[in-house]
Amino acid sequence: MLEERVPLIDLLSREEGSILIASHENPDADTLGSALALYLFLKKKGKRVYVGCKDPVPHFLDFLPGASEVVRLPLPQVFSVAIVVDASGFYRVGAPVDAYTRVRIDHHIGGEFYGEYDYIDTEAPATASLVYKLLKLWDEKEIDPQIAECLYAGLATDTGFFRYSNTNAEVFQMAKELTQLGADPYRTYTMFSERESLAKMKLISRVLDTLTLYEDGKVAGIVILDRFLRETGAQYPDTEGLVNFPRSIEGVEVAFALIEKPDEGVFKVSLRSKNGVNVARIAERLGGGGHRYASGCKIRAGSVEEALQKLLHSIRQELVEEKVKV
Ligand code: 5GP
Repeated sequence: MLEERVPLIDLLSREEGSILIASHENPDADTLGSALALYLFLKKKGKRVYVGCKDPVPHFLDFLPGASEVVRLPLPQVFSVAIVVDASGFYRVGAPVDAYTRVRIDHHIGGEFYGEYDYIDTEAPATASLVYKLLKLWDEKEIDPQIAECLYAGLATDTGFFRYSNTNAEVFQMAKELTQLGADPYRTYTMFSERESLAKMKLISRVLDTLTLYEDGKVAGIVILDRFLRETGAQYPDTEGLVNFPRSIEGVEVAFALIEKPDEGVFKVSLRSKNGVNVARIAERLGGGGHRYASGCKIRAGSVEEALQKLLHSIRQELVEEKVKV
């Protein structure tokens, strides 16, 4: 989809005003890696560019080149162009953004559309793959090892380090090219997998006690209460990836993590699908979104039991609609 990239390249190469690249809140490697890659590239092009996030850069992403330059949103100024990456709209930034032109670069289904400059491909394995295609078409020789490392991190993590169903020949081709451009697969892997804290390990041990099967073993979930974080000394970003524990159980088709966030008065939900149940629809019914295999939402509820009932209700609805036998 070459034509989708050209208007955006035209816009950015002409732009002389300020540009904001915004990641979504509670950033993961795809949103922050994509944002940083675009930011580093635009800086090389002499643009007045900022990279922003509502939340601080979590420890597991602090090695990404440019991470120390991420500014906290909101910022008081009005930007000429603001680009939200790996999010279904600016509402996912979690902080207000003022800009004359809004752009979305993303691979999520549905969401908001801002016009001719959007670059959205719901078949893409990661937003990093879209940013890579954009930069490659614009000026491949400017993709240096730092930019390649940011993109590789997004691509690797969104494919579960090349294991999920979105891993295909094109993904391996891109990984090969990014490695040739200077990404270091072993370094990226160790940065993500071998820098855990003792507090996180203690959190995992607490959380695994909550692991429960529902719907005849087709659904599995964990609950992460705020007090687990306080008692173990873990931080909210340490909850990233814990949904993979229920997902790993044999026979499970839908896995979830229900995470209490008292500061926002909500329960954050992460959903994962193994055999094709569309978890984006489960999240959408609860006001969230995502893709078929990974989605999320926030549930407003007075208690964890109430949040769990709302979530299980939406999961059951989807299992019935998809005629999954339980
Ligand atoms: P995670 O479970 O890793 O937080 O998110 C999985 C996927 O669902 C990501 O692609 C993320 O962008 C999307 N997602 C997570 N939470 C929300 C939410 O509250 N709203 C929407 N629209 N998407 C979400």
